[in-house]
Amino acid sequence: MSDYVCRICKCRAASCSALLESSLPLAADVRTTPSKALPRYPLRLVRCGSCGHIQLEGAVPENLYENYLFTPSYTADFSADMDAFCHRLNDAAGQKEHKHILEIGSSNGSLLKRLQDAGWNVLGIEPSAPLVKDAQRQGVDTIHGYFERAALAEIRKRIGTPDVVIMRHVLEHLEHLDEMIGCLRELLSDGLLVIEVPYVKNPIQENRFYDFFHEHLSYFSVTTLSRLLGIGEFYIHHIYETPEVGGSILVFADHNRDCGPDDNAAQYIQDEKDSLSEERIASFCQKVPQQISSLKAIVAEANRAGKTAAGWGAGQRGCTLIAYCGFQADNLKYVIDANENYWWKYVPGTDIPIVPPVYYKEHMVDEILIFSTGYADSIIKTNHEFEQMGGSFIKISAI
Ligand SMILES: [Zn+2]
Repeated sequence: MSDYVCRICKCRAASCSALLESSLPLAADVRTTPSKALPRYPLRLVRCGSCGHIQLEGAVPENLYENYLFTPSYTADFSADMDAFCHRLNDAAGQKEHKHILEIGSSNGSLLKRLQDAGWNVLGIEPSAPLVKDAQRQGVDTIHGYFERAALAEIRKRIGTPDVVIMRHVLEHLEHLDEMIGCLRELLSDGLLVIEVPYVKNPIQENRFYDFFHEHLSYFSVTTLSRLLGIGEFYIHHIYETPEVGGSILVFADHNRDCGPDDNAAQYIQDEKDSLSEERIASFCQKVPQQISSLKAIVAEANRAGKTAAGWGAGQRGCTLIAYCGFQADNLKYVIDANENYWWKYVPGTDIPIVPPVYYKEHMVDEILIFSTGYADSIIKTNHEFEQMGGSFIKISAI
């Protein structure tokens, strides 16, 4: 056992139990040339025996995010999700004129642009240089860098003390959670903290083992997120479940102890005693080898019958699943993705090209496996043409 320490409670590794162990390429490491020889990194998922936090042992290579291309703003569903987010924020934050919002990990500025258009004063901070450029192009003031103590002075200079700090799909990437919470405590004296993270209950209940990959170091429940926020004396007062990235929790928290955790939060914590019990998690782990075999069998049988197959969804989940199954271009012709930044690049560790949605019209295959489980229905609905041309969609979630 390594000298690993839990990212939330600092408990030593001796009490952590291993859930998944593998060795995979980095799921976001798409290259412009086939990359069968891409380095693989150990992936070891553990659960802290003390606080129950599910997390990866070890860290990702440094600078991983500096050329990051993943931007989730490419679907109609995402746009609707953003509208819902803005609505909830307005409800929680009240009068928005002249109020200041900081978004940590602001990506290409698509959310801040909406908020700016709605009257908020906005500032983003983002480590990926290409995404900062995209944000600045659409007029969203964005600092290029990581949110850390050294950045606080620049943030205050540009926007003062923010009334709201938004952190969507950031916390799960961080090695040093306590430092982040300390910086937030320092910056956000009595404002609103809005956090969205994938909800670990979903992949556990739905047996989505491919939701666990190197870029996400932590997998939060309401129980563990509440414990982490408690370190900075932030208290959750609203929880929403959102469809983002296969099911997430959107949490509103502040320093106001008088509000206390609402009944909703308390109910979540109670329910997780069952939905995330050791038995449930053990059952999840046991099914993984069979799931991988089933998926490989579908593609192998199609190939044997002279049929061709492709995939849909080259995000981290799709790439992780492909890596687990060991697919290459001789069994999976291509993978479609709506994110144009990925087009004409290759699924990490493979010679499988990533192509635009229209590609199948000229390069028909018999079957498309939908790896973007959260968007499967929407993909099928908007691509009737594929089925009319004689193709079949296969939902991975049904396997
Ligand atoms: Zn712990």
